[in-house]
Amino acid sequence: MTHVGITAPPAVGWDIHCHTVFSDGTETPLTLLEQAKSRGLQGVAITDHDTTAGWPDAETAATQVGLPLLLRGTEITADDCRVSVHMLAFQYDPDNAQIREMFANTRDARLRRTKRMVEHIAEDYPITWQSVQAQAHEGLRTTIGRPHIADALVAAGVYRTRSEAFAGVVSTSSKYYIPTPSPTTHDVVGAVKAAGGVTVIAHAGDLSRNRRLLSDEQIESLIAEGLDGLEVWHRGNPPQQRERLLAIATAHDLLVTGGSDWHGKGKPNELGENLTDEATVREIARRGVLPLFGA
Ligand SMILES: [Zn+2]
Ligand SMILES: [Zn+2]
Repeated sequence: MTHVGITAPPAVGWDIHCHTVFSDGTETPLTLLEQAKSRGLQGVAITDHDTTAGWPDAETAATQVGLPLLLRGTEITADDCRVSVHMLAFQYDPDNAQIREMFANTRDARLRRTKRMVEHIAEDYPITWQSVQAQAHEGLRTTIGRPHIADALVAAGVYRTRSEAFAGVVSTSSKYYIPTPSPTTHDVVGAVKAAGGVTVIAHAGDLSRNRRLLSDEQIESLIAEGLDGLEVWHRGNPPQQRERLLAIATAHDLLVTGGSDWHGKGKPNELGENLTDEATVREIARRGVLPLFGA
């Protein structure tokens, strides 16, 4: 099997890596679909962090806007021997018991971790668990985390902006920091497979996110367990890493995807700046348990 987009980034196609207000994006699924249509994209995927909560709104929006092609996905944060890995999971059954349990365990562990961080910070700064919870605004239906702690510190007058808080008390090098508990990459591949979905490692060559990247061997062991593809066309992957990832994809006949990692006004990434070709999107839809929405 050959995939059209394998040697060069496709000029037309689908943007299958997009965030909305259901995680850390600033725009609704409706705005995502409207902008995709006005930019002439063939389709998009909604891939909020660790949740499927935005899927129903995205489906309604796709029908409303008349952009027929929508992949339903999630960007799942995972750990692989202390390398933090983002995995895109597409077209899986959101009601599958195994994947629901994985998400529920992650949410519980993260909530406990955030509460512990707040307890420590509250010993030295004027915030409380209530004041942190009060920062989770409508639409942001993800687990309370560091952004909310940062906003509570701003509301208490400790910092002027969220970024200042992230550079201070909330930073990963602060004494209050506790790492985010995540499932392993192996758990994610297994759970997504069990739920009938397709997994792709997001921005696997992004050195600005990770000091250490997944090795070829780590990627190959996930391929052996059923990993479907690699996101090669992403602004975070430098040219050398794109070459490395393409070589792995070619050797193992993996899907090669592209996406903007759009966050609305939350990041400079432009919707549609990186794309996935039609043949690959069709193959993702063929492998997944959900039909391509609107097709
Ligand atoms: Zn990511
Ligand atoms: Zn992302």
